[in-house]
Amino acid sequence: MAFSGLPRVVVVGAGPAGLIAAETMAAAGLSVAVFDAMPSAGRKFLMAGRGGLNITHSEPLDRFLARYGAASPLFARLIARFPPQALRDWCHGLGVPTFVGSSGRVFPETFKASVLLRAWLRRLEGLGVTLHLRHRWTGWDGTGALTFHTPDGPVAVPAAAMVLALGGASWPRLGSDGGWAPLLAARGVAVAQFRPSNSGFDLSWSPGLLERAEGQPLKRIAVTFAGRTVKGELVVTRTGLEGGPLYQLSAPIRAAIEGAGLATVSLDLKPDLTLPQVQNKLARSSPSDSVANRLRKALTLGPPVPALLRECAGDADLSRPAVLAGLVKALPVGFTAVRGLDRAISSAGGVRLDELDDRLMLKRLPGVFCCGEMLDWEAPTGGYLLQGCFASGVAAGEGVRDWLAVRP
Ligand SMILES: Cc1cc2nc3c(=O)[nH]c(=O)nc-3n(C[C@H](O)[C@H](O)[C@H](O)COP(=O)(O)OP(=O)(O)OC[C@H]3O[C@@H](n4cnc5c(N)ncnc54)[C@H](O)[C@@H]3O)c2cc1C
Repeated sequence: MAFSGLPRVVVVGAGPAGLIAAETMAAAGLSVAVFDAMPSAGRKFLMAGRGGLNITHSEPLDRFLARYGAASPLFARLIARFPPQALRDWCHGLGVPTFVGSSGRVFPETFKASVLLRAWLRRLEGLGVTLHLRHRWTGWDGTGALTFHTPDGPVAVPAAAMVLALGGASWPRLGSDGGWAPLLAARGVAVAQFRPSNSGFDLSWSPGLLERAEGQPLKRIAVTFAGRTVKGELVVTRTGLEGGPLYQLSAPIRAAIEGAGLATVSLDLKPDLTLPQVQNKLARSSPSDSVANRLRKALTLGPPVPALLRECAGDADLSRPAVLAGLVKALPVGFTAVRGLDRAISSAGGVRLDELDDRLMLKRLPGVFCCGEMLDWEAPTGGYLLQGCFASGVAAGEGVRDWLAVRP
């Protein structure tokens, strides 16, 4: 089936990266059509909104850019062009004010993505952008037109340029399943294997620990791995631990598990007290008290801490205050697996950055631009993911605009 009302530019992927690329190009006067495999747009964006939609961060730009690790040089360029304040202004322009939370993270006042997405889709419609849902991109036909699988059969769409914004491979039920990778690999584009990022880590809990601790939070703790310490909160899950500090440390922990099959982190369950302070407080508690009572009375550490200490302490003698204090300040927890892609917040891997030119166009496929989480970068939670997707989407949209401007 041929596609009626030929657009000049096609965007595949109606997540934040694709939609901002579409907006950038439509605002520049291009005729744009957006296609997505799912029945509605922005499903992962809406899911991010369930956690409050941490859209960006207010920290100084040098610290902000360091969050992109090996991809920092690219993001320094992209974010210089579309910085956190530009993203906040963009939200305000859609009628959604933002604010800086106590941690420096930036949120919409609505704490939701739905209000923003609705206003955004209206704006895109006003700019003449057409949205075609239930269109799964399947590659190119012999004439170079893009091919889609739809409920009404295959469709071919010729386009002067295209932006791929197909997302990573986490939470595949929201649409981004990484199924596009073989299509690009078949054209010689190097795609790094997808791996979970910002995910929890697994180990084998005993049935006793699970019974006492599953689902319970470990509040105001600190996690140390490979010389880096991150404070925050973790939750005991059926298969391990999950939460902000582990998300921040997920790249080196994942690398250690991939290399050695084990990554042992150190939990500080009382990070605001020194070891001698913890020791003194425990030493003053009554020797006849149980370990759980000592922890509660001396250190205000209630469940699930006693169960966790017993689980991870091996055969250490917890009745000795010095031993107990040492474990409270540095409890070793050995992870043996990374939690799967299906529930990771984001993924590492995707189109390798050296496949792209300065405009985010694939060097091997002129006219094909890529942006968002489908590129091989990762960043911790804190608003860096969405900022990276928006900034790269703007860059890809501008790249198309400039590339078409010099073509007949
Ligand atoms: C639970 C959760 C909470 C999160 N919270 C935050 C947060 O608070 N802050 C933050 O910065 N980030 C957060 N993120 C991450 C953030 O949502 C993503 O990084 C972001 O949505 C990626 O944007 P994208 O446009 O690159 O890809 P996506 O949003 O994944 O969009 C890609 C689109 O491409 C479509 N697609 C894929 N393959 C095809 C195909 N073959 N044909 C047609 N369409 C296709 C998909 O259906 C999808 O709509 C969260 C993620 C999750 C899962």
